[in-house]
Amino acid sequence: MRKTKALAIILVINLICFLIFGLRPSVVFAATQRIDNQINNIDDKKYPRIKKMIENLQKSHTNWKFKVLYTGLNWNTVINEESKHGRNVVGINQPNYSGDWLCKECKNKTYSGGNWVCVSSAAISYMMDPRNSLYYEDVFQFLELSYDSTATYDSNIIKNILKNTFMDDGKLDTYITTIINRCREKNVNPYYIAGKIIQEQGTKGGATFKMKTTEDGKTVYYYNIFNINATGSTTAAIVSNALNWAKQKGWNTIEKCLIGGVDFIANGYISVGQDTMYFEKFDVIADSYYSHQYAQDVMYAQNQGEKLRKILEKIDATEYAYTFVIPLYENMPSSACPRPATTSTGTTSSTNNNTNGNTTNSEDNIIKGDMTGDKVVDSADLLYLRKYLLGKITYTEEQKKAADTNSDGKIDSADLLNIRKYLLGKITNF
Ligand SMILES: [Zn+2]
Repeated sequence: MRKTKALAIILVINLICFLIFGLRPSVVFAATQRIDNQINNIDDKKYPRIKKMIENLQKSHTNWKFKVLYTGLNWNTVINEESKHGRNVVGINQPNYSGDWLCKECKNKTYSGGNWVCVSSAAISYMMDPRNSLYYEDVFQFLELSYDSTATYDSNIIKNILKNTFMDDGKLDTYITTIINRCREKNVNPYYIAGKIIQEQGTKGGATFKMKTTEDGKTVYYYNIFNINATGSTTAAIVSNALNWAKQKGWNTIEKCLIGGVDFIANGYISVGQDTMYFEKFDVIADSYYSHQYAQDVMYAQNQGEKLRKILEKIDATEYAYTFVIPLYENMPSSACPRPATTSTGTTSSTNNNTNGNTTNSEDNIIKGDMTGDKVVDSADLLYLRKYLLGKITYTEEQKKAADTNSDGKIDSADLLNIRKYLLGKITNF
């Protein structure tokens, strides 16, 4: 009774505050979120550089469409929430994700079966800041995964993705019809589903693709093409959990597996607004906020987006009328969050100011790949090199030396690619 009375008094006080001062009562309101396809309307002061970066992409990819999601969330709040220990992890013992990438409090504590470690707020900021991914190479993590009723989906594109793979077993056309129809019914982008099949199974079909069983003396196969419920601490457990799931669902034909899989993907994420790989990973969507994330791996969105891009590149299908949804946060830093150094900063053990492990020319102190001169190689250097290659800016002699990452005496697209590889963690030095 006392509690009820106290609550009633608090509510009355809140109401009085609200009426007199026009203040919101002290209740946490959900942020208002809205999607806007008017890129021109983006306020450059509130969301620095975003509009320009989207416009740059539109210039070279004229069929692409962009929308933004005003998340209504404060950037620092998002980073604090995502920084809860274990919510974002990275594979253990990776030289490219060491030093300032890792959570100083969790130190050597492992997660998810022992092969993952907690990452720092700096790493989360770097991976979540859309300005670090608004480039051709990384933009596919923002691909809209829901079905666009105004778009025409070309079955030939899906065929190109799936032909000469394990799906091309004589019934490919039937599978494609199944995919397109179910995707339309369930509001899922069928290109994404086709790409996801290859992402999950490769072109030959992985261990979870099918399981052979005998029922009533007859051979029966069960299929789990999308790796649903593929969890566990050992490979054997993962495969067994996935295939038992398929059996439980009765997925004893590829068609049944496709239908059930599309439904699962639609119901779990796309229908609740987590309709990009970025939003599957970083749940900044009302009302589940941060609690409904497809993976803990902080690299998930970038890696999956990259895989899909490569699949589309192989069949020359990157330039269709895709739609991308870019998240906007309130009170973001004025420039993109920097890539964390792979050695810990603030230690006294090193006199080497080259935090990236790149070749330093001791004579003139040039760090390969660092044209901006801030002693790190990051997305700003990439942008800077693009501008140079497009003839928009000129370089000093020092900058030219830094830009020639492969030391072949010329500055060209190979150097650009080199820096991309470095930023993606594919190479650790030049
Ligand atoms: Zn931690």
